[in-house]
Amino acid sequence: MNIIVPVKQVPDMERVKFDTEAGRIDRSSASGEINPFDLNALETAVQLKEKLGGAITTVSMGPPQAESSVRDSLARGSDRGILLVGKEFAGADTWATSYALAAAIKKLGEWDIIICGEKTVDGDTGQVGPEIAEWLAIPHIAYVSEVREATDSTITVLCELEADRYVIESPLPTLLTVTKDINVPRIPSFKDKMKARKAEIEHWGAAEIADFADPANLGLKGSPTRLNKVVIPSEEGRRGEVFRGSPEDAAKKVADALQALGVLGSAK
Ligand SMILES: Cc1cc2nc3c(=O)[nH]c(=O)nc-3n(C[C@H](O)[C@H](O)[C@H](O)COP(=O)(O)OP(=O)(O)OC[C@H]3O[C@@H](n4cnc5c(N)ncnc54)[C@H](O)[C@@H]3O)c2cc1C
Repeated sequence: MNIIVPVKQVPDMERVKFDTEAGRIDRSSASGEINPFDLNALETAVQLKEKLGGAITTVSMGPPQAESSVRDSLARGSDRGILLVGKEFAGADTWATSYALAAAIKKLGEWDIIICGEKTVDGDTGQVGPEIAEWLAIPHIAYVSEVREATDSTITVLCELEADRYVIESPLPTLLTVTKDINVPRIPSFKDKMKARKAEIEHWGAAEIADFADPANLGLKGSPTRLNKVVIPSEEGRRGEVFRGSPEDAAKKVADALQALGVLGSAK
C-alpha cells in the first residue's frame, strides 16, 4: 500500500508572536514544527503500513526551513520526503497550495491513500485536504476519528461531524482527513532521529512538477483569494470575583452582578 501524507510546517503557536502593526505572524519569533494534526495523519499512515505493508511518502510545500519538518516525518515512520520549495510557490492561498500538492502527488504516480490532518493550527481552514481530492478526482472522507477496517482495495472509517457519526466505506484510491481523536502519535526513538538526520530530502520546484501543473496556477499569481486586511483580535483576560456571605447573600450578590453585566436582563 502506497500512502501519501501531506505535512505542513507551522510555527510553535505557544511561543509565536504576532506583529499587530503589520497584521502578520512573526515567524522568526518561534521555531517551526509539524502541524499537530499532521502527526495524527502520519501515525495513521504508520499503523496502516504496519498492517498492510507498503511505503509512506511525505509531501510538504513551504520555505527551505520546512525541510526540518519533512525530516521529522521520516523519523516518525515515513520512507520518503519531498519538499515543494521555490519562489513560484510563495503567497499561495489554499487553492494554489492544494493545486501544487496535487500536482506533486500526480508526479509520484502510484498511491492508494492520501492522509491529511483535519486542519492546521495557523491557517485553520481545513480546505487543503478536500481540495487535493477534487484536483485528483478521487473520493475523500473528512474528520475521520477511527479506521475500522482496511484492505488493499477499500477502507472503512468512522467520521464525526458535529453531533453525527458516520461509518463510511470508500474504494481506494481515496483521501482522508483525520482528527486528533484517531490516535496518539508515537514519539520517535533516538535511533530513528539519527537515521532521519542523514536521509535525503528531495526538493522539487515548479520545473519538477511542470508536466502536472501550469505555472500560472502556482503561488500568489495562481491564488484567487485577495487578502485586504488582517486583524488580530485582542485577547480579553478572564475576570473573576469571589462573593462571600451566607448562601442567600452570596446568591443575591451573584444575581445582582450578573444583572449589572446585562446577562440576566433588567428586572421589571
Ligand atoms: C492570499 C493569501 C496569501 C497567502 N500567502 C501566504 C504566504 O505567503 N506564506 C504562507 O506561509 N502562507 C500564505 N497563505 C496561507 C496559505 O494559504 C495556507 O498556509 C495554505 O493554503 C494552507 O492552508 P491552511 O493552513 O488553512 O491548511 P488546512 O486546509 O487547514 O490544512 C489541512 C491539511 O492539508 C495539508 N496541508 C496544508 N497546507 C500544506 C502544505 N503547505 N504542505 C503540505 N500539506 C499541507 C495538511 O495535511 C493539513 O493538515 C496565504 C493565504 C492567502 C489567502
